[in-house]
Amino acid sequence: MQREKVVLVLIATLMVTGASLRGSIIAAAQAPPAEPFSVDLIKDGVYWTKGGVGGNTGFIVGMDGVIVFDAKMTPASAKEMLAAIAKITPKPVTHVILSHSDADHVNGLSAFPKGVTIIAQENCKKEMEASKDSRMPAPQNYLPTKVFDKNLDLTIDGVRVQLRHWVPAHTSGDLIMLLPDERIVFGGDLIDLTQFALVHAQKGGSTEGWITSMQGIIALDADTFVSGHGDLQTKSALKARLAAVEARRQKIKDMITSGKSLEEIKKTAPPEEPPTGPFGSPGFTEVVYNEFAKHPS
Ligand SMILES: [Zn+2]
Repeated sequence: MQREKVVLVLIATLMVTGASLRGSIIAAAQAPPAEPFSVDLIKDGVYWTKGGVGGNTGFIVGMDGVIVFDAKMTPASAKEMLAAIAKITPKPVTHVILSHSDADHVNGLSAFPKGVTIIAQENCKKEMEASKDSRMPAPQNYLPTKVFDKNLDLTIDGVRVQLRHWVPAHTSGDLIMLLPDERIVFGGDLIDLTQFALVHAQKGGSTEGWITSMQGIIALDADTFVSGHGDLQTKSALKARLAAVEARRQKIKDMITSGKSLEEIKKTAPPEEPPTGPFGSPGFTEVVYNEFAKHPS
């Protein structure tokens, strides 16, 4: 499961960095998923899914239709999700809400019904458009149809939905979805605790922004948090990770001030922090190091 997840993140990262490992990408994309697709009810018509190809997803059965959160990585895996939804309700999928632009969350969109409303933060749409000439482009005929900047409150089919974006964090265009009546948050990769704090600097992400966003998520009135990868999270787990990330970031800053090199600082990483990000992309320490090297304060 962990390896599959890593492979998917790697693919997403490669897409962005343009690294030329085409054979590996194709092999990885065609490999059978390590974990079968499965659906779990959280409560009151709100479900989350894991397994298959791509990140976790969710869906909510409303009065007349279904709202889906994130779209899997491949049309085949998205079809598997849509078939699972059809077993639960005959209502059509009318809305898809995207947590962010990474391929493992959006590239299954082309399996969705034509004319579906696709909602995203405005920078997510820009990143999807910018991926047009990359190795794994977001489907350009399924770009977001409704975008917003900071806050968007909607009632869709009788379901109250509150979308929030604070600042660039994991990418420049992250959003979270709060269901205030059910007190559930779908947080995408902002709350992916299988990574220490995964920040795609190449997509405008920022570790300071990750901290600001996590503070915003923790302040929400909710008790169940659906992550982009891994299991459901509690608020106390998010608080503990936030504290660890803040402490580590401060320690890195202090070591830079005292003249330590990146290699020396990397050796002090805690065990829960992977030494590098996916496919050798910069891990947390290096991202922080680069941020302070570029903008010393
Ligand atoms: Zn992501």
